[in-house]
Amino acid sequence: MISPTAFASSTHRLCPISTCYLQRTLFRSSGHFSVPLSHYLTNKVSHTRVQWKQAGMKGVSAAAEQNLSVTELPNMSVQRVPCLSDNYVWLLHESGMGKTAVVDPSEAAPVIKALDERGLKADYILNTHHHSDHTGGNLELKQAYGATIVGPAADKDRIPGIDISLKDGDTWKFGQLEMRVFDTPGHTRGHITLYFPEAEALFPGDTLFALGCGRLFEGTPKQMWTSLSKLTPLPHNTWVFCAHEYTQSNAKFAVAIDKDNAKLQERKRLIDEQRSRGMATVPSLLSEELDTNPFLRPHDQAIRAALGVAQDASDVEGFAAIRKAKDNF
Ligand SMILES: [Zn+2]
Repeated sequence: MISPTAFASSTHRLCPISTCYLQRTLFRSSGHFSVPLSHYLTNKVSHTRVQWKQAGMKGVSAAAEQNLSVTELPNMSVQRVPCLSDNYVWLLHESGMGKTAVVDPSEAAPVIKALDERGLKADYILNTHHHSDHTGGNLELKQAYGATIVGPAADKDRIPGIDISLKDGDTWKFGQLEMRVFDTPGHTRGHITLYFPEAEALFPGDTLFALGCGRLFEGTPKQMWTSLSKLTPLPHNTWVFCAHEYTQSNAKFAVAIDKDNAKLQERKRLIDEQRSRGMATVPSLLSEELDTNPFLRPHDQAIRAALGVAQDASDVEGFAAIRKAKDNF
């Protein structure tokens, strides 16, 4: 694997891994495209395992604009369906039994269009929390496909059409794939995060964002830090499919309080470039978040110094200071 430094100084912008599907795809696409950030900011990801498909070989930029990006994971594909102004709905298809699930449908129409294009129907709707930009399409999709709606037990009264309610430590079968559930309150009091160990895929809703975390609408810093602390021990090459394209504004804040973090600076540079081309910055890898997301690094002494947090303060105190600074940024 190539280091970020070596890659940044290389003369071309394609993935240098010779077996990489992305490199071949981009090469044939004949454009000046940059690789997804996570492709080289981490050396933990297997290039042969993860494939990025651009339908019709139209190139990354066109694919992002046309909402066609699919991430192929072991026994599961994940398609990003942009909805509303900055939401990402995730369309999951598992290969074992051919089941399809929709994570956090803000609205029904773009999801139905994406399903139609692939000849799929929604067997399940998976909700992380009750906010309408995550559940707005529930009832229409349920009516259209007879989909079963799965959501948080702690908030079952606020999830439209819920059929199956799950709580911390529960497992649920998506076709042949196991899904594990973490209660992750803080953004809302009944938020859950969904984890597919075999596919190494995490759906944290509005708990964890690329370079950020959710606002504390119904919870405390202690609750949110406890929630995030359930996710940080997962394998570092877990893909994080968060629910919003907030990465560029999160990056502005992150560099303001962690200005000497070289990995963060490089990540921000690439995010700015990706966004200038209209490309999505999600998913990211957990390893990237651990290295550069300030909300996962409240113990970091440079961040504490920037925010006036005592070196011997607790992680909850550090986290609270970061959240407060972001709210006022
Ligand atoms: Zn929300």
